[in-house]
Amino acid sequence: GKCVGILALQGAFIEHIQHLEKCITENKYDLSVTTVKTPEELEICDALIIPGGESTSMSLIAQRTGMYPHLLKFVHDPSKAIWGTCAGLIYLSKELSNEKELVKPLNLLKVKVKRNAFGRQAQSFIKDCDFSSFIPDCTDFPTVFIRAPVIETILDPQEVLPLYTLDNGLIVAATQGKNILATSFHPELAENDSRFHDWFIKKFVLKQL
Ligand code: GLN
Repeated sequence: GKCVGILALQGAFIEHIQHLEKCITENKYDLSVTTVKTPEELEICDALIIPGGESTSMSLIAQRTGMYPHLLKFVHDPSKAIWGTCAGLIYLSKELSNEKELVKPLNLLKVKVKRNAFGRQAQSFIKDCDFSSFIPDCTDFPTVFIRAPVIETILDPQEVLPLYTLDNGLIVAATQGKNILATSFHPELAENDSRFHDWFIKKFVLKQL
């Protein structure tokens, strides 16, 4: 079966693994999950999740460990499924509008993002959102925002769609083509709710939807 990798250089990767393993057990998917820190671990993957954390640190570690060129090649391969959450969204983007000095992004997602768009750690929040436009019947997903970015500009409106927009007009999720998903929030921090991970597996990894 296919293998889903979670980039484990930095950030909240353990939570992603727990959700994926729960989905695999419950639905008997023919899939495995692995952490990715080296080119050899990346090599065996069919999909990659880039977790939340801190995009400056993630970028610096990827460059220092020599992972950057391998990640660049992997994410730009259209046969791979890619999902970035929060810092992962920032790291996948083509352009950053602020706090960009030390970040060398993966130049994949055709958007410009604004880091820390909701303010500081203390302004973190959780909100029930209707995701039924993305995920069938998912009308009340507990959406966790922690120093989250927003998508400020769509650089290619033909390719980056659909978008998910909050009531206040801020764009916090997008897909690009059939293989790329980006969320500015943290579905991996939704306790006991693996619907987002299950949707990622079905739609982007197994392409059953
Ligand atoms: N604020 C972080 C950054 O700019 C992202 C926060 C997160 O991933 N929870 O990289």
